[in-house]
Amino acid sequence: MQVPLLDLKAQYATIKDEVLKQINEVLDSQRCIGGPKVEELEKKIAELCGCKYAVGVSSGTDAILASLISLGIGIGDEVITTPFTFFATAGCIARVGAKPVFVDIDPKTYNINPSLIEPAITKKTKAVIPVHLFGQMADMDPIMQIAGQASLAVIEDACQAISAAYKGKKAGSIGTCGCFSFFPSKNLGGIGDGGMVTTSDEELYHKLFIMRNHGSEPKYYHKFIGGNFRLDPIQAAALLVKLPLLDKWSQARRRNAAYYTKKFKDSIVGTPQISEDCVSIFNQYVIRVPRRDELLKHLQSQQIGCEIYYPVPLHLQECFSYLGCRQGDFPESEKAAQEVLALPIYPELTSKMKDYVAKTILEFYQQ
Ligand SMILES: *Cc1c(COP(=O)(O)O)cnc(C)c1O
Repeated sequence: MQVPLLDLKAQYATIKDEVLKQINEVLDSQRCIGGPKVEELEKKIAELCGCKYAVGVSSGTDAILASLISLGIGIGDEVITTPFTFFATAGCIARVGAKPVFVDIDPKTYNINPSLIEPAITKKTKAVIPVHLFGQMADMDPIMQIAGQASLAVIEDACQAISAAYKGKKAGSIGTCGCFSFFPSKNLGGIGDGGMVTTSDEELYHKLFIMRNHGSEPKYYHKFIGGNFRLDPIQAAALLVKLPLLDKWSQARRRNAAYYTKKFKDSIVGTPQISEDCVSIFNQYVIRVPRRDELLKHLQSQQIGCEIYYPVPLHLQECFSYLGCRQGDFPESEKAAQEVLALPIYPELTSKMKDYVAKTILEFYQQ
């Protein structure tokens, strides 16, 4: 049996007619930049996330970049984040000329360990970027408390966590702003690149709004140096079709997660630990196992899709060697990078597929 890590065709088949209809509306109008679809999506995402405002942008990466620029973070500044995340989180910090300062993760959740943030704060620290990895939010209460005491901005990297919750609050609604990605493999994926920034800070909203358009206000008068960070209306049109289904899809992912977790109970396979305070959207279902690389090869040979998120923690990436970090600096992140493996969790998985995945893994360890 073949079980891909993600099957976007299965999902598209259920919404194809409506997506084509909505895209056709955009094409017929020839309003191909901005316009009512983008505005409608912004309004609905703000509502979903419990924020006053949302600004559509060109990707999750640009959501982080535009947030940093709008918060005035740049050369000489430091931004604290986790080394166990997708590259963009720290890449954007470096791109604005600031220094990424890494602190290790909590091995249970893979998210930034709040107790390590305070010791990393210096006079140059301007912000913290907690990442809500794999769909589970970081422990935001202590993060907000430490950030508040030191007057730091908090940029939530919620690219993997749209509509996830922490103590009843939605991802992107707790920090100064929240960054979302509509990369096709995220729970709410577009038909190309796209992203969103959420905030309830009116001044920041205004800055983000003009920053995505080269910082101009009015047109051709540039207060700030922004960029072209705009969201295409064709993306917004497709996303508006998918948005009402997001909750149903995330619930199906949670059901699949519960199914696997039950199957792996009392086995050698470490399953995701979701804090009681959190509702995860399971963008990924990540197990922790011995002999991980052998298991990966075995699953591939059995036609089961799986992936390592992420094989090299950011402090050990070649491009960040100038930061002077070494092997051993962030042991929990390094250990996770050696042991984690993401399994197929997408909503359309059948029971047969899940059984096959679980059985193949359990049998591998029984040999
Ligand atoms: C996907 C992702 C991003 C970047 O989003 P893009 O839309 O691909 O630019 C940033 N951070 C995290 C944690 C992500 O998962």
